[in-house]
Amino acid sequence: MNNRKKMVLTIMMTLLLIFLSGIFIQQRIVDMLNKAAELSVARQTEDISLLAAERFHRFMTPLQTAAHHLSAHEQDKEVVIQMLTKQNPQGQAGLIDFQHHTIGRFLSTTSFPRLQTAFHGNTIIDYNPDIGILLATPVFFGDNVRYVLYQVYPPEMLPKLFALSDYDAFTHVIIQYRDGTLAVPYENYTTKDTRFWADDTIQAGMQEVHERLKRNKAAAVYTEGAEGKFFVFGADLPQTDFSMIGYMPWSAVAGQITSIYQRVLFLFSLMLILFACLSIYLLMAQTSVAETEELRKARLEADAANQAKSQFLANMSHEIRTPLNAISGMNEMILRQKLPKEVRQYASNIKSATAALLTIINEILDFSKIESGHIEIVPTDYQLETILREVCTLVGLRAQAKNLQFRIHVDPYLPNNLYGDAGRIRQILINLLNNAIKYTPSGSVTLDVSGHRSENTLHLRAAVTDTGIGIREEDKNRLFHVFERLDIERNRQIEGTGLGLAITQRLLTMMKGSIKVDSIYGEGSTFTIELPQPIQSFDPIGDFNLDAQPVYETDLSAHTDFIAPSAHVLLVDDNDMNCFVASSLLQETQVQITIAHSGNEALEALQKQSFHVVLLDHMMPGMDGIETLHKAKELPNIGNTRFIALTATAISGSREKFLAEGFDSYLSKPMTGAELTAMLQRYLPPEVLAPVSSRQTPSATADLTSAPATAEPAAEPAAEPAAEPAAEPVAPPPASNEPLIDQEVGLKYCNNMQAIYNNVLTLFNKHSEDKIAQMDNDYTTGNWKNYRINIHALKSTALTIGCRSLNKKAQDQEQAAKDYLAEDATAEEQQQALNYLQEHHAGIMELYRQVAKEAKPQ
Ligand code: ADP
Repeated sequence: MNNRKKMVLTIMMTLLLIFLSGIFIQQRIVDMLNKAAELSVARQTEDISLLAAERFHRFMTPLQTAAHHLSAHEQDKEVVIQMLTKQNPQGQAGLIDFQHHTIGRFLSTTSFPRLQTAFHGNTIIDYNPDIGILLATPVFFGDNVRYVLYQVYPPEMLPKLFALSDYDAFTHVIIQYRDGTLAVPYENYTTKDTRFWADDTIQAGMQEVHERLKRNKAAAVYTEGAEGKFFVFGADLPQTDFSMIGYMPWSAVAGQITSIYQRVLFLFSLMLILFACLSIYLLMAQTSVAETEELRKARLEADAANQAKSQFLANMSHEIRTPLNAISGMNEMILRQKLPKEVRQYASNIKSATAALLTIINEILDFSKIESGHIEIVPTDYQLETILREVCTLVGLRAQAKNLQFRIHVDPYLPNNLYGDAGRIRQILINLLNNAIKYTPSGSVTLDVSGHRSENTLHLRAAVTDTGIGIREEDKNRLFHVFERLDIERNRQIEGTGLGLAITQRLLTMMKGSIKVDSIYGEGSTFTIELPQPIQSFDPIGDFNLDAQPVYETDLSAHTDFIAPSAHVLLVDDNDMNCFVASSLLQETQVQITIAHSGNEALEALQKQSFHVVLLDHMMPGMDGIETLHKAKELPNIGNTRFIALTATAISGSREKFLAEGFDSYLSKPMTGAELTAMLQRYLPPEVLAPVSSRQTPSATADLTSAPATAEPAAEPAAEPAAEPAAEPVAPPPASNEPLIDQEVGLKYCNNMQAIYNNVLTLFNKHSEDKIAQMDNDYTTGNWKNYRINIHALKSTALTIGCRSLNKKAQDQEQAAKDYLAEDATAEEQQQALNYLQEHHAGIMELYRQVAKEAKPQ
């Protein structure tokens, strides 16, 4: 059940509850009010009963006065009777003595049993349904009663004389004799009234009245039944044998009750209405909250979908880039061969197609990286001139290929040293210039670079103008939309994704820059960007002359010409093809490549041997590149090894991420031979690198790679020398007349390449003092472990330059160090080894110095 339904249900339940409690409260109020009304009616009944009793006594008073007169004037009997009758004609007066002789109204003593008590001196009021009501009073003569004076009121007279109809219009009172017989009904009493009194609820009410009369003088009870709502009541008439009962309609009493009741009802309804309003408000609020919640959910879902999209792109990029890497690498290998013209053309086509495909993938990835917030602007110091050169060289070549004139104007007073993300600025300029070239069939493309300063910021302005197809006015606002390509009919032949300008604009926004476009359809366009860049120094860029110092497509390709036969490179990639491509691309550098197909294999290799550089694939089954790197870093003597990540997943593999993990750098697949070699050149120790002029022919390369060449002490990574015994140079013992440095021997180890040999000699000389200082230090501090590593390196390098004597001495000294460090060495053996080390150290260092002095290129 959703929240809204729950809310509606809760409101309905609460309304029902309020309604029910309303009914209950109403009932309670009515009960309370009726109880109060009963009390009030009871009090009224008491008043009525007094009134009724008083009526009887009113008729009794003249009788008593006459009796009093007779007591003194017995002879006036007849006169008194006549007078009473005259006074009150409804009452038939009479006088009776002990012998039951009567004067006036005849009276049988049996008809009124209570008459006897009057002869005992009591005033009586008696009733006989057939005869009526008898009022009698004794007539005393002294202490004795001689007569009883009475008046009889016949039944037909009773209602008129004793009924209380005049009390009010609603109150109906009946006077009963003590045995319950109806003595005085109210006026207009009919059979209907008899039925009324016989009604069950009225009877029950009367029963309750009688019950209460046991404790009270008067009582009233509320009844509700077939006859309607009434109060029935009753009371004894004081000093008579009569009682009275009666009823009054509820409405007669409840005039006030109803008004209270109505007020309560009104208040209650008001409460209900208020509650209903509140509920509606809450429901609406809840609906809006639910809507916000739905929006939030939708946003989360959209974010998740976006994440999924990014992940999908990352995976897809990996899947596409991996085979693309193989294609472009293999193609590069093909292009290096001597090929028939036709085949070369095919291979060139493959190259440009692969490059185009790579651009598309990169654009898609770039965009998804921006979208998912993975792209960060990384500002560094940079030189504007360098960026412009790089951009112009690349774009210039493209313009040239399309027979377009490419011009660049740079304000010579622009500060050259700026602070910003040079890579992204280059990307933006290349995007705009590439577009200009793409959409210009003939004519020119011009880049104007200018700007204005405000304090320490240069507002760099670059305008790219072309004489191309132009953009329709109505299309201009769609230019920066993602995947929007304009003028499709005309541009069908032109490759593109419709992402370039969207990326450009977003990058500019991230860098607080802006872009605008001016264009005339059919004549050309100008895209102008403005970008604030902090100025690092105010040195002007000067005259920008593109021909002065050509820079190639990337900086990397400019420095790839080297060989490093003594360099040890571990290539880790689960994909055989990638391994083959990378090792083929590196073939010309002559580096010694060891291949591992998994993280575990890589760790094994690193434990066996030390490497200068490890090219480590990121995504591998099982242990991935990052985990492998972390484990590798825990291995001993790994400090000098450089780790380069290879990644086909450009989306998540930003340079910063890999650096943060501990990689020294990263290469994005597919990588060119130039990129790969440039990377090695950057990270191999300089000592193992030989300059480009020494490069061998491919056949010589093959020989060299198998030669056990080492170059120079510093080239030796810190590793356990015992781990690579097979690679150790083995020298014949030096002859007594042998020169200190035998060039022939040295050249042999340098594959008879004078240039390499010269380089090796130079490096040997250059690093000798440092190495001697290191070994002296190890010697005095007793750091025999390091000492052994350095002396091992000296052994190799001495032979590489052709100095067998130093090689031999170093070999023996290394053995002594090894003996000293041997775990199972006895104290005596250790002492012997130590003696040997101490004896020979100074001599070896001296020889090292001498050799270094002589180690000069020819
Ligand atoms: P694309 O990969 O299609 O070039 P862009 O985002 O770089 O994607 O450009 C979007 C569209 O803008 C292009 O498809 C093209 O129609 C138009 N456009 C971009 N630059 C120019 C230009 N210099 N001259 C004419 N049209 C251009």
